Amino acid sequence: MKVPKKARYDVAVIGGGPAGMMAAGRAAELGASVVLVEKNEGLGKKLLITGGGRCNVTNDKPDPREFLEKLGKKGKFLFSTFAQHSVKDSLDFFNSRGMGTKVENEGRVFPVTDSARTVYDLLVRYMKEGGVEVVTGLAAKGFHARDGVIVGLNTEKDTVVADSYILATGGTSAPETGSTGEAFKWLARIGHNVTEPDAALVPVKIAEKWVRDLSGVSHQHVKLALVINGKRDTSRIGRMVFAHFGLSGPLVLNFSKEIREAMQYAQTGDKIELALDIMPDLDSAALDKRVQEAFATASNKKLKNSLKGVVVPALVATVLSLAKLDGEKEANAVTREERLALVKTLKDMRMTPTGFLGKEKAIVASGGVKLEEVDFRTMASRLFPNLYLIGDVLDVERPSGGYSLQLCWTTGWVAGKSAAKRSKENPSSRQA
Ligand SMILES: Cc1cc2nc3c(=O)[nH]c(=O)nc-3n(C[C@H](O)[C@H](O)[C@H](O)COP(=O)(O)OP(=O)(O)OC[C@H]3O[C@@H](n4cnc5c(N)ncnc54)[C@H](O)[C@@H]3O)c2cc1C
Repeated sequence: MKVPKKARYDVAVIGGGPAGMMAAGRAAELGASVVLVEKNEGLGKKLLITGGGRCNVTNDKPDPREFLEKLGKKGKFLFSTFAQHSVKDSLDFFNSRGMGTKVENEGRVFPVTDSARTVYDLLVRYMKEGGVEVVTGLAAKGFHARDGVIVGLNTEKDTVVADSYILATGGTSAPETGSTGEAFKWLARIGHNVTEPDAALVPVKIAEKWVRDLSGVSHQHVKLALVINGKRDTSRIGRMVFAHFGLSGPLVLNFSKEIREAMQYAQTGDKIELALDIMPDLDSAALDKRVQEAFATASNKKLKNSLKGVVVPALVATVLSLAKLDGEKEANAVTREERLALVKTLKDMRMTPTGFLGKEKAIVASGGVKLEEVDFRTMASRLFPNLYLIGDVLDVERPSGGYSLQLCWTTGWVAGKSAAKRSKENPSSRQA
């Protein structure tokens, strides 16, 4: 684990995602001594997976009014911030540093290299040029606040001391990248109000008619997996209920955040599916054995009456139909291929999520620090003048299409500038 070298900095940035890197680079460019503390061993873990690895850096809306309209009611908070750093300023920033960009459908802007790595490399270089001290593998643990200012950042090692602190620890989406939302607890402890992510637990609408036809049927123990472009992503096990609109029950409610994120950040042409496994405790071979046993004890019965102990009665007709099997056929006449098709269906019933109950819109409320508690001219907290809040830490609604990263560039740039200015104007707070 690395540790910060200096006893005191002008600016300490917490979190090495896109917002933190931009803020650190800008403050350093303006002459501030800057340390950036990141808990992962590397920076920008989420940045590198944005836009399916291609990084949709912004949306081509040079008029801030038009851009901010897309953020819903909360967009109006950000006029003064975008007046200082607009979409055009971000594009100039990237283009002038050698990163060409191109505009695709719906105004989505990508690097010409089609690689998030280009954006990452550029930001790392920007910070290096300014002399930012990057400390990775060090988790911050909270703030020391005294008399209305932040006087220190607790870390798992020593306390980091700076004139200003820029919080860029992200929100709670894709927690495996490091955005686990722990800073929201510290903020609440020092008096900030943090909004819970909206619509975190919601039922899911499904396109397929067979799902809706099963309305009212529940299953105690099934596995649901998210499948993105044919590749299995995360999965969960639990109780699921079929409903007239799609799926509900604890399993689905708890899974809805991941499903929502996958849909929100899907690129045009991406295929998002859910795979239902109604026998999650048996692998395909064990399930095949169970089906053969069921057939053996019901060999003279029709297929539709021979699946006792394998499928709940309410699901039999649907399973047979999805496996393209004739339920009227006798169990002892079922071929091996037909039996394997049945097993495959029991382990993998595909569904297409189309939306969420009561949340028809593509816009997703993210949760985060209440905007009323931030001065958007500087990105400073209204409670602590030397604490700056940026990127996904803020409770701003963001549609997909490059809007989230643009918020990182704009709020990071303005916070970096404001924090650097603050330490120049308050040299008394600095020690040699
Ligand atoms: C799959 C996916 C694809 C996306 N694609 C796009 C896209 O193409 N275009 C777009 O505009 N947006 C996209 N987004 C959204 C975008 O990635 C986020 O808005 C953006 O990463 C937020 O940046 P941030 O710097 O605020 O936070 P993050 O990127 O979340 O970075 C926060 C950093 O802080 C660190 N950290 C957290 N806690 C601590 C701690 N206690 N101590 C030290 N460090 C800490 C984390 O490890 C992390 O590195 C996507 C999101 C996902 C999940």
